Amino acid sequence: MKYIVIIGDGMADYPLPELGGKTPLAAASKPSMDELADRGIMGMVKTVPDRMPPGSDTANLSVLGYDPQKYYSGRSPFEAVSMGIALTEADITFRCNFVTLAKADAYASRVMLDHSAGEITSEEAHELLLAVQNSLGTEELVFYPGVSYRHLLVWKNGPDDWDLTPPHDILERAIGPYLPAGPHAARIRDMMEESTSLLADHPINRRRREQGLNPANAIWIWGEGRKPALLPFREKYGLRGGVISAVDLIKGIGICAGLEVIPVDGVTGNLDTNFEGKSQAALTALAQGMDFVYLHVEAPDECGHRQERENKIKAIEYIDRRVLQPIRDGLEKTGTPYRLLILPDHATPLSVRTHTADPVPFLLYDSTGQKQRSGLAFTETDAAATGLFVAEGHRLMDIFLQQGGLNGGTIII
Ligand SMILES: [Zn+2]
Repeated sequence: MKYIVIIGDGMADYPLPELGGKTPLAAASKPSMDELADRGIMGMVKTVPDRMPPGSDTANLSVLGYDPQKYYSGRSPFEAVSMGIALTEADITFRCNFVTLAKADAYASRVMLDHSAGEITSEEAHELLLAVQNSLGTEELVFYPGVSYRHLLVWKNGPDDWDLTPPHDILERAIGPYLPAGPHAARIRDMMEESTSLLADHPINRRRREQGLNPANAIWIWGEGRKPALLPFREKYGLRGGVISAVDLIKGIGICAGLEVIPVDGVTGNLDTNFEGKSQAALTALAQGMDFVYLHVEAPDECGHRQERENKIKAIEYIDRRVLQPIRDGLEKTGTPYRLLILPDHATPLSVRTHTADPVPFLLYDSTGQKQRSGLAFTETDAAATGLFVAEGHRLMDIFLQQGGLNGGTIII
């Protein structure tokens, strides 16, 4: 049996009047997902425990079978692991975003326009980050380049006790009330403010403005954490597994769980990513002996943050046609028995432009199962209508991998 998890990041949403009361998932043309929903098992799952920050970090830990209440130690340490940065237990890491702030007289009254500096390219960002490191980096505080707008700051032997805010949670708001707080915040806050004068007139930003693109005119520090310690996936489930994703966070969670990173060229974390390359890489890895593949697609989440309704629907349709269908065709051709788990990690509703902790729909399909057709489609409404609810998201993986449990449509919870 082969096991494939397909994550449409942030794919879930609320009904929209512009879509006749449908959600993007319901409005999308997705014949493959809907066929599996008709023949598989659906329900709702709470991937983000109460009182924990809704986001890809807590949610994907859950989906992979790790209780975030036990294993979560911040977002950025997972990214650090994926970037190959050696961390000690005494180090503290931070996510460092390039963002776009609106002009204003006082720094604190500048408005957060864009948490991604217009999805700046990695090449441009690396040059800017070098300038930041050269001017603001120290023996203790070191900046590391990542992908697009996502970078890292490590404070060697750094302190705990931070109150930091994700930039995508304060879009269109003045930054003053959300600047770093906590006993050690002044140093980080000063760096953030100093970055604005450093970046304002940088040639890269001058060129971006000329091209009508959002400049990366400030850094924003958040997502603090310490080195995570996860029980290896293979020890937990006895399966050899791999992870496919464009974003460091997901690759980092996979690495910390002992999964192999399956590289794919041309993945961007956006609508222009290499969808076919991902499905082909999954099939190749499975054919070469891997038991389990965790395939993550970031695009719907970015469309949710950018409030691009049509693009969010398109991202879902691409996942269906260019990822799921080729994987099914490939496995059906070889006659390999397989199980599929398809779900969003969390919702990124267009109306709120950020992550929520709402339960999300999941779809389980077992190619060896003989279940009666339900006539349902893969939507939030139909999944909720089944009445199946997994309250602790980290238990869904146990259900997905349980021996014999999916036949006949019943699930042992
Ligand atoms: Zn996510």
